Amino acid sequence: MPIATINPATGETLKTFPELTDTEITAKLDLAQQAFVKYRQTVFSERSQWLNQAAAILEQEKAELARLMTLEMGKTYKSAIAEVEKCAVVCRYYAENAPQQLADLPVESDASNSFVCYQPLGIILAVMPWNFPFWQVFRFAAPALMAGNVGILKHASNVPQCALAIEDILSRAGFPLGVFQTLLVGASKVNSIIADERVKAATLTGSEPAGMSLAAAAGKEIKKTVLELGGSDPFIVLASADIDTAVATATTARMLNNGQSCIAAKRFIVEAAIADQFTKLLLEKFQSLKVGDPMSPETDIGPMATPGILQELDAQVQKCLAVGGKILTGGQPITELPGNYYPPTIVIDVPQDSAIAREEFFGPVALVFSVPDIDTAIHLANDTPFGLGASAWTKDTNQQHRLIREIAAGAVFINGMVKSDPRLPFGGIKRSGYGRELSIQGIHEFVNVKTVWVK
Ligand code: NAP
Repeated sequence: MPIATINPATGETLKTFPELTDTEITAKLDLAQQAFVKYRQTVFSERSQWLNQAAAILEQEKAELARLMTLEMGKTYKSAIAEVEKCAVVCRYYAENAPQQLADLPVESDASNSFVCYQPLGIILAVMPWNFPFWQVFRFAAPALMAGNVGILKHASNVPQCALAIEDILSRAGFPLGVFQTLLVGASKVNSIIADERVKAATLTGSEPAGMSLAAAAGKEIKKTVLELGGSDPFIVLASADIDTAVATATTARMLNNGQSCIAAKRFIVEAAIADQFTKLLLEKFQSLKVGDPMSPETDIGPMATPGILQELDAQVQKCLAVGGKILTGGQPITELPGNYYPPTIVIDVPQDSAIAREEFFGPVALVFSVPDIDTAIHLANDTPFGLGASAWTKDTNQQHRLIREIAAGAVFINGMVKSDPRLPFGGIKRSGYGRELSIQGIHEFVNVKTVWVK
């Protein structure tokens, strides 16, 4: 995959970047290691000040930064603005909360004084996806840098200008030279970077194959990893739900980021008593969405990020048809527009036990399943290799309790859409990965939890 900006709305290659040589990678790791030796001695108030300054820059420059995201990966400009604003929020959250989250923790024991302290590990490698080009990086960088680590970023090859802009923002915010660096390298360089003795741990957000590859390479070197991988999250609607709100939220939850979000609702599991009504209302919503130029404020859905994603999505929809699925709307790439456009699509009657029903659909395609009761709904929700975040809708508190306890996922949202929030931990189980980002759990992933015992 070339390291390049290719506008998904037009297919035009706007800028290409040479990949770093091995010598250049070594020089950047040298710089990161030198930076760590000094940076780990800085105090929270300094780090907080730099992170707050990064938040201020993000807010001041959000129009330009959002435009860059839209240009490189096709998200709507309005959603890109919201993404930059959210990055400022996570910077401020950790600037304010990290000092308490990482404060020494006294523990009673047989010592005269025993406690836990949290210390930085060193260079942390972040391998990141294109779908939230700023948010994915800032939610790693804010806690990692507050904890005194230094970061190196291998971003997705189709968002190089976003990757460089993030390094530039953190540098202008005041973080010392080498504390956060972007490495413009392809995926094939990742294993040798994690094998470098100076790199202490890695986090990867992306696909299962990428996660498996990085975790295997890190495992060989006994280095910790956090993996945030795919999802095929259920959106369960039971008969007592507020159906209008559920349908409106279902539409937003599926179409988030042109349908290319790990936590997008992907499988709609609806109790039979309301399934026809739900599907009819969902169809109306999907058909009202406007597909087109992601820069236009009227647009709801922009292009898929790459031609490969479009082809993959198209092939998955064809597989649904091959096993008996029926399309209610959409179902074919949009060929009248240049770029990688796919329409909002609803598929029903896909057999629940078919292989395709277990795959992740990374685009604006909803699979709707009708189930007789809550038992079947929970069974189907859990009948997936993934377990990221589930959304479930019911007014019945007993049903809510069952859904909370019985759904196998990293998060359950009742009567709301699954979303990330700096205050709440984020991450998955099963093939959606392991480890957590955000909140206190996220900042504790890349620290040495040191036990101190004094007599
Ligand atoms: P991807 O191909 O795995 O790419 C993600 C990152 O991994 C990129 O930087 C990519 O570099 C790199 N990469 C690819 N293959 C690699 C390998 N073998 N070894 C090391 N690094 C490798 O993922 P994607 O298709 O762009 O992203 C979509 C996937 O990410 C979806 O499955 C989605 O659900 C998941 N995702 C998960 C979360 C979460 O928080 N759980 C959030 C967002 C997305 P190149 O670009 O150079 O190939």
